[in-house]
Amino acid sequence: MKQHIYLASPHMSEEGYEKFFIKEAFDTNWIAPLGENVTEFEREMEEKLGAGAAVALSAGTAAIHMALKAIGVGEGDLVFCQSLTFSASANPITYVNAKPVFIDSDEETWNMSPSALQKAFEKYEKLGKLPKAVIVVHLYGICAKIEPIAQICKKYRVPLIEDAAESLGTTYKGKYTGTFGDYGIISFNGNKIITSSGGGMLLINTEDAKERAREVLFLATQAREAQRWYQHAQIGYNYRMSNVVAGIGRGQLKVLDQRVEQKRAIYEYYRKHIGDLKGLSMMPQSREAYSNCWLSAIQLDDGCRVGPFDIMDALLADDVESRPIWKPLHLQPVFADCDFVTEKEGLHMVDERIGADNSAAGTIFLRGVCMPSDTKMTERDLERVCGVVRKLWKM
Ligand SMILES: *Cc1c(COP(=O)(O)O)cnc(C)c1O
Repeated sequence: MKQHIYLASPHMSEEGYEKFFIKEAFDTNWIAPLGENVTEFEREMEEKLGAGAAVALSAGTAAIHMALKAIGVGEGDLVFCQSLTFSASANPITYVNAKPVFIDSDEETWNMSPSALQKAFEKYEKLGKLPKAVIVVHLYGICAKIEPIAQICKKYRVPLIEDAAESLGTTYKGKYTGTFGDYGIISFNGNKIITSSGGGMLLINTEDAKERAREVLFLATQAREAQRWYQHAQIGYNYRMSNVVAGIGRGQLKVLDQRVEQKRAIYEYYRKHIGDLKGLSMMPQSREAYSNCWLSAIQLDDGCRVGPFDIMDALLADDVESRPIWKPLHLQPVFADCDFVTEKEGLHMVDERIGADNSAAGTIFLRGVCMPSDTKMTERDLERVCGVVRKLWKM
């Protein structure tokens, strides 16, 4: 019988590091709250990534929420956010009663287009309403054009939040993603490159990072004032990571570099074994970046006989998981009343059924597929996946 192949599943270390740290938590009865694993996990992440401060939270989504709170985004404010991403990048904007303005992608990186961002700034400057923050994403581990994006934000004095949920381990000119923006966020959700079973981290890179971290910690632990009794002057949140969860995270951090190499080898395998198929191209890679290749995505040309759903259906029939590209947020019904800034002229629907337009983000969504990128796959598994794909070109 053929084995099921996952898109990306949790991959604990062969050495059992995660169990070691969990056992320590049990032995000292520091199951919750907090404890050594949480503080050590934060310290280890700060050190590994070179971040000013790190705060361990219950999810990556919570980390974005806390970044917006730390910046002071609130009622009626605008936040510029990359459109081509998972909804969790933008949902927290609505938690603080602000409104997203979605920005189109760049074909070279699939991520936020610096010129579309510039265009959005010019448009909203004229309207007399600059955004309170910008959220850029490093989709699938591909590094965004972070230097020009950071420069534009600096010019307009608007804080930058880097959603590095999918790009932990990706570096640009040797510096880790998540440390370029004023704030960076990481996710340890089950399908991410390393997982704590669920969790996230906020990275703070401002000059007053440690002080900001204390403020976030206060908000994320119910905003209890320093009194002997329970005193509250603001609304708090229950977003702190537990000590058991942090133990898994610490163990996983030890194998992050190894996972990056495994993910890159998967990408390389696909490039070699299906990258030559007519009309198929691999997701882009920037020359100055070293990608963690969290998911290996491919794109099919407009004229290609084989479409994304043909590939997903053929893989499914062989018990192999694959996934469409994130549907851009400006095309989501829930964000239908939000503005979208693109450089594309004559924006129109291209595929009514799935709701894709001819924007750069819409085109990537329409033409792309995320291939199975599970680090537990063997070479034979990869051979099997590529065989299914190649067969579609022979029919
Ligand atoms: C996974 C993910 C998140 C959310 O992280 P959680 O830990 O699941 O809350 C945010 N943004 C992107 C781009 C993601 O892929």
